Amino acid sequence: MVPALVLLALLGAAPPKRVVFDAHTHISPGELARFHGILDEVGIAWTLNLSGYFPGGPLETQLQAARASGRMLVAANLPWRAARARDDFPELAVALLERSQALGAVALKIEKALGLMVQKPDGSRLAVDDPWLDPVWQAAGRLGLPVVIHTADPKAFWAPIDEKNERLEELTAHPRWSNFGQPVPSFEALLAELEQVIARHPGTTFVSVHFGNNAEDPAYVGRLLDRYPNLYVDLAARVPELGRHDPDLLRALFIKHQNRILFGTDLGVSDDNFLMLGSFGTEPNQRDEVGPFFSAHYRWLETRDDQPSMTPIQGRWTIHGLGLPEPVLEAIYAKNALALFGVPTSHPPYWRLSRRPDSTRLGGSPE
Ligand SMILES: [Zn+2]
Repeated sequence: MVPALVLLALLGAAPPKRVVFDAHTHISPGELARFHGILDEVGIAWTLNLSGYFPGGPLETQLQAARASGRMLVAANLPWRAARARDDFPELAVALLERSQALGAVALKIEKALGLMVQKPDGSRLAVDDPWLDPVWQAAGRLGLPVVIHTADPKAFWAPIDEKNERLEELTAHPRWSNFGQPVPSFEALLAELEQVIARHPGTTFVSVHFGNNAEDPAYVGRLLDRYPNLYVDLAARVPELGRHDPDLLRALFIKHQNRILFGTDLGVSDDNFLMLGSFGTEPNQRDEVGPFFSAHYRWLETRDDQPSMTPIQGRWTIHGLGLPEPVLEAIYAKNALALFGVPTSHPPYWRLSRRPDSTRLGGSPE
């Protein structure tokens, strides 16, 4: 019998060579079998689960599931409701962070609620850059936990929901996602608060999700990456938004900042058969959409092809492929995330078909 790899070579097809770490997922602990089926189908080696919750919440359960999986790392969250209830919330948050790290969490995920709706004990809005929270960002730096932070939302969520709104389809399905006319700061004000935090804490690493929370303006994100070496961004749920920009400018930006861009998708696999691929409509995504969704991501990064958006509900525009060089692809697909978060406990079976990560190739990633 001819071994599979020899057969592939004879046929002129390249063996699978993509090694992917999805650094932006939301996985329920009871959904491992469905989750692994997805990873196997689309060739994802490892993931970071951003829905870890906190100690005494189900962080312990999430970590147990991650260990059983061997393909998942977990980010802890914070109980923001306690910020309204307790004057000592920052001390509580630091203690929870220390405990989370001791249990095995590898990052702190901050939800968009901070800045939009989280309140202080006096009932006022807790700003992202409120100095009250400085001990939390300092503790994350001291503990080596990158802060994976979602601030604001797509710009279109601040615009009226009418035919001129670029995300009319998404906002029609989810009218409550709109911030238009709501008593919240502007999109720009929230991003300015986030920048303050990144600037004030150079010893803490920040992963600003959804392409710096401003995929609408890649040049802005490029300037921030220039200015702050402690800033990373992920691609989650923003490839369609990014893909409609000038591919040459974007390609140059990706090459320049190749060591601080993480592959991520906002894959959600949770209870009651829920599935999310970046976003979702009035119904969750269907299982048969998973393959095309991930293939479109790979095609966008690896080729100069034009293709339709893989998340049409976010806007039905054509996206332009970047055709990135191989070393840049390796960095964005996995190397950067492995260096930042570490390596999950075991390698998936498909790994045998692919190339193994030797420590030099992966830059001596911490185990
Ligand atoms: Zn997410």
